[in-house]
Amino acid sequence: MNFQNPVFIPGPTNIPESLRKACDIPTVDHRSPQFGDILHPARDGVRQVLKSTSAEIFIFPSTGTGGWEAALTNTLSAGDKILAARNGMFSHRWIDMCNRHGLNVEVVETPWGEGLPVDRYADILKADTEHHIKAVLATHNETATGVKSDIAAVRKALDGANHPALLFVDGVSSIGSMDFRFDEWDVDIAVTGSQKGFMLPVGLAIVGFSEKAIAATRFARLPRTFFDVQDMAKGYADSAYPYTPSVGLLNGLSQACRMLLGEGLENVFARHHRIAEGVRAAVSAWGLTLCAVSPDVYSDTVSAIRTPDGFDATAIVAHAAKNYGVAFGGGLGQVAGKVFRIGHLGSLTDVMTLSGIATAEMCMADLGLDITLGSGVAAAQEFYRANATIARKDAA
Ligand SMILES: *Cc1c(COP(=O)(O)O)cnc(C)c1O
Repeated sequence: MNFQNPVFIPGPTNIPESLRKACDIPTVDHRSPQFGDILHPARDGVRQVLKSTSAEIFIFPSTGTGGWEAALTNTLSAGDKILAARNGMFSHRWIDMCNRHGLNVEVVETPWGEGLPVDRYADILKADTEHHIKAVLATHNETATGVKSDIAAVRKALDGANHPALLFVDGVSSIGSMDFRFDEWDVDIAVTGSQKGFMLPVGLAIVGFSEKAIAATRFARLPRTFFDVQDMAKGYADSAYPYTPSVGLLNGLSQACRMLLGEGLENVFARHHRIAEGVRAAVSAWGLTLCAVSPDVYSDTVSAIRTPDGFDATAIVAHAAKNYGVAFGGGLGQVAGKVFRIGHLGSLTDVMTLSGIATAEMCMADLGLDITLGSGVAAAQEFYRANATIARKDAA
């Protein structure tokens, strides 16, 4: 393993040196007043990254998956009806979790590569005049397919039907990298983890609750102990936890928020968009296509690239790891073997991205695909050159 190479997986992402150092602190007694100086700035920073003024931020020693579980178990009761779409592996796994908790999920099957079917959501919500649906699930960025969805449109579908269901958004691979508007979209619960947009090691589930979601915790009957937000809120009131917090990661998280807010959220989003556009320029120069069906759903954090029929895309991932010490993502579920994924989120520059594009080219050529070395790199170079003034503005 060569630690000089950036990773091109959609999480965990590359960890900036300053964040590695921020996580590496001597033991802090989490029952001392010093702990509050780490906890509260981290929660305030996350709230700002979510573009919220009022969200209650809870941070668990866990991962994004634990964040899903916190969302469900704190607000719902067995048998509650949930509306969800399955358009990739992550939305599938969230639905699976609902089923295991005895929730009653109405699943809208959606072709992988498409965004959330907001028109179907609108019809279903309108037809639910007795308001049996208690929560709507929305995966903002489907990491398996490289597809982003329109959360504002999901909110519109709810409001258009005058429907009181809670809106839960999986923002694990979007928050901190792509525009996310907790307050404006009236999100009830946002879920993420530490190891994607926040550029930290894995180990934290990070969730934001609206006032309405907090109110739902009073009536929710699903069992919860570790993920109980009422216990957590009581702890926070005393600058403490109901158990032992990951103090180093929390310190890293407040530093990560300072980095993102210091760069400026709009600049962070513009950088991710520019980097992604360069990757997409390379993909078309290769004569390949994305799994994402149209530009309006292209993700700025991960590209799932279809390889020719009969070719096992997973071979690219194995070959890159073995021969070049570079990590790409494989296909998951329905698209296993059909796509490979270039993750392009977190601590990344145009120039770092060129190395990933160059490596993908070497792998595809090695494995016999009809790829001209340098073709994708040149397309991305042209794009980054043409947009370099924007890059310099971001840095300034
Ligand atoms: C990574 C990811 C998850 C799972 O998060 P873990 O931290 O691995 O538990 C969930 N949803 C999306 C969209 C993701 O990208």
